[in-house]
Amino acid sequence: MVAEAGAQRIPPEPEGMSAESGRSERAEPPRQMSHWEAANFFFETAAERVGIDPEIVELLRRPYRELHVEVPVRMDDGRLAVFSGFRVQHSAARGPYKGGVRFHPEVDLDEVRALAALMTWKTAIVNIPFGGAKGGVQCDPTALSKEENRRLTRTYMVNISHLLGVQRDIAAPDMGTDKQTMAWMMDAYGSAHGYTPGIVTGKPISLGGSAGRREATGRGVALVTRDTLASLGMSAEQTRVAIHGYGNVGRFAAQFLHEMGCKIVAVADVGGCVVRPDGIDPGLLQEHVAATGSVVGMAGTWERERDEVFTSECDVLVPAAVGGVIHADNWARVQARVIVEGANGPVTPYADHHLREGGVTIVPDIIANAGGVLVSYFEWAQNIQQYRWSEEHVNRELETMLCDAFQGVRQRAEVEDASLRTAAFMIGGERVAEAIEIRGFV
Ligand code: NAD
Repeated sequence: MVAEAGAQRIPPEPEGMSAESGRSERAEPPRQMSHWEAANFFFETAAERVGIDPEIVELLRRPYRELHVEVPVRMDDGRLAVFSGFRVQHSAARGPYKGGVRFHPEVDLDEVRALAALMTWKTAIVNIPFGGAKGGVQCDPTALSKEENRRLTRTYMVNISHLLGVQRDIAAPDMGTDKQTMAWMMDAYGSAHGYTPGIVTGKPISLGGSAGRREATGRGVALVTRDTLASLGMSAEQTRVAIHGYGNVGRFAAQFLHEMGCKIVAVADVGGCVVRPDGIDPGLLQEHVAATGSVVGMAGTWERERDEVFTSECDVLVPAAVGGVIHADNWARVQARVIVEGANGPVTPYADHHLREGGVTIVPDIIANAGGVLVSYFEWAQNIQQYRWSEEHVNRELETMLCDAFQGVRQRAEVEDASLRTAAFMIGGERVAEAIEIRGFV
């Protein structure tokens, strides 16, 4: 680990949260793994430790169903463009498949598989009655006009809709998609099946979306960061935070962490990285992003290469964009003492192994960013009941359920002398395996 001038001195940590945690876990993983291999590596590490039936492990090492569709779109200039789309359903052992839809140029089947599996573990850890799924379209939504985006979204939805259903598989936003995407998806589905708000979550509030859903993932990231800092004896006021990705997750994580007293000292998006050791005001940064489309050029900040955010001087690092960004070639230059995974799969197994050996506490994606799916669950429940919750009610339930689940993960890590990640996978894996056995799938 790089020694950091001016960093907070971290007092001795409670058992189970210590640098020693998980040292007994598997030997050094390969330097490189695909997203899917990485997701399975973490699951298998935990499954082996808790003794999940190897036949069930074998079943869960494969997604239940995968769909690859072509998505033809008539572009504004009259040309026909054909995009690749995916929907992967990993497990429905505990309830309908649930998972977001990613529009990104690098989306492929391997990544969507990994993201679908992570949803299975995430929904089980926060104990909501869903399974895991994910969707994606290989495209750059920022290069499409609004009309092209609308046509692409509707065609994708029509092409995967035979797999979806309010009690079968429910979609949501992810990278490159938002409440407008969900409104188009809901409408495309509804034109064949009738008004069905519960088919997607993350919708606009005027179409049956939930108060608090937009902020939910970032709010959850901030809540688990708060509880992690407390468990390590670190004060929010002395904590410097660096954030990779300033979209739905990164932006609200920055806002809530700032409100808790943390200093946001570095922020990166796809365009670059800006730093300010005295702290960046997320409110002003959001105004700048709304006006210019990027964090780059924010007044009072210094520009850095985009990936310098990972190695910037900070106490907490929040990756909140793409996966696999903290890896074999950059982990050793990470200065943060705590990594909170706002993104899905941002730390590779190799980097995870070495960072833990070096004493870094990593709060894994499957609990750190679970605030989003929790409020998606509230939205789905409200749609089914045709009833609306107040924002206060949503936020209270989110905090209670997420923080209770995180407490469970920390306790399990302590009891098992495991990392937080392995403890989270143990809890999720056991719950899913139990559902499979009781239901008599196999
Ligand atoms: P978003 O599309 O709203 O924002 C993505 C941000 O990442 C943008 O600021 C973009 O500029 C930046 N970005 C993209 N590629 C980048 C790169 N290579 N380097 C640096 N920055 C890059 O996406 P989001 O909804 O905030 O999702 C971010 C991550 O959080 C994803 O991993 C997603 O799976 C995960 N997540 C999202 C939710 C949710 O509710 N939206 C829930 C759980 C997990």
